Amino acid sequence: MSEFDLIRQFFTRPTPNTILGVGDDAALLRVNPGMELAVSTDMLVGGTHFYLDTDARQLGHKTLAVNLSDLAAMGAQPRWATLSLALPQAHDDWLQAFSEGFFALAEAHGVELIGGDTTRGPLNLSVTIMGEVPQGKALRRSGAQVGDDIWVSGVLGEAALGLAQLQDQVHLPEGARHTCIAALQQPQPRVALGLAVRDIAHSAIDISDGLLADLKHILDSSGVAAEVRYDRLPKSSYFASSGEEMDVLAQDCVLSGGEDYELCFTAPLAHREEIAVIADLLHLPLTRVGQIVSGQGCKLRAANGSVMQIAKEGYDHFA
Ligand code: ADP
Ligand code: MG
Repeated sequence: MSEFDLIRQFFTRPTPNTILGVGDDAALLRVNPGMELAVSTDMLVGGTHFYLDTDARQLGHKTLAVNLSDLAAMGAQPRWATLSLALPQAHDDWLQAFSEGFFALAEAHGVELIGGDTTRGPLNLSVTIMGEVPQGKALRRSGAQVGDDIWVSGVLGEAALGLAQLQDQVHLPEGARHTCIAALQQPQPRVALGLAVRDIAHSAIDISDGLLADLKHILDSSGVAAEVRYDRLPKSSYFASSGEEMDVLAQDCVLSGGEDYELCFTAPLAHREEIAVIADLLHLPLTRVGQIVSGQGCKLRAANGSVMQIAKEGYDHFA
């Protein structure tokens, strides 16, 4: 199959909301009046971000999901994506499954694939996502204010637990195994949440490298500090069942485990009730885990108020 047949067969779909999509030297887009364009790129490298034998459909989903998560954290409405692929070889079955996973999620979010690049090389999947946000309304990392509540969506630690299972570091019961591996391989980007809190939250970030590492980005950008209650963090229920050894793992997964793709946002106290209503509407737990305070860094407290020591903050490719 030629490169162009491959693009036509697997990556060309109708794009009714685009002036010009796949097939020319560039795509042409029109942003709605009064909107800003939010643009973000995330790359998944085979062997680094995923095992090379990962199910292709799930990989198609995840390649887009991690990008949607970035727009969610900005409070942007996703609209367009480009996809750059380096493939060791072109296998029809693999491409079919990959593109199905990709387009299923794209269609669910009204995203149109408008271009990309396809080359031979070690497996590498890169998406640039574009979305719209009303002028001046994007949720930035730099907006947190002293006194804000710190909120976290969903539960933390399941993706890391799924990875621990794949690496044979834990042996989860059947149900837990399924849920945690799905959390790792098919994360659900919190796009609706980002849109729902856009006018309420002062700052937001998506949790891709672990809560502490990602919250730290908000703190550094905003010039503030945080007090977080470990006992209030929404931990996966799969940590509950076991003994001390699991406690250490739980801490690691919940605080520093990457790839949860939940949102962490800060908002004034006055919006607590509204946020509870949003949680109900979205069928998504939203948990108040701490407070923004003045100073520097993040203090983590146990239920009895004592300060906990943190061994490891989060994943860093170059640390
Ligand atoms: P050029 O040589 O002008 O850079 P390409 O041959 O790379 O163009 O691509 C041809 C068309 O196919 C372009 O519109 C490009 O955006 C699109 N395209 C290439 N690869 C992909 C892909 N993986 N997914 C979607 N569109 C793609
Ligand atoms: Mg090209």
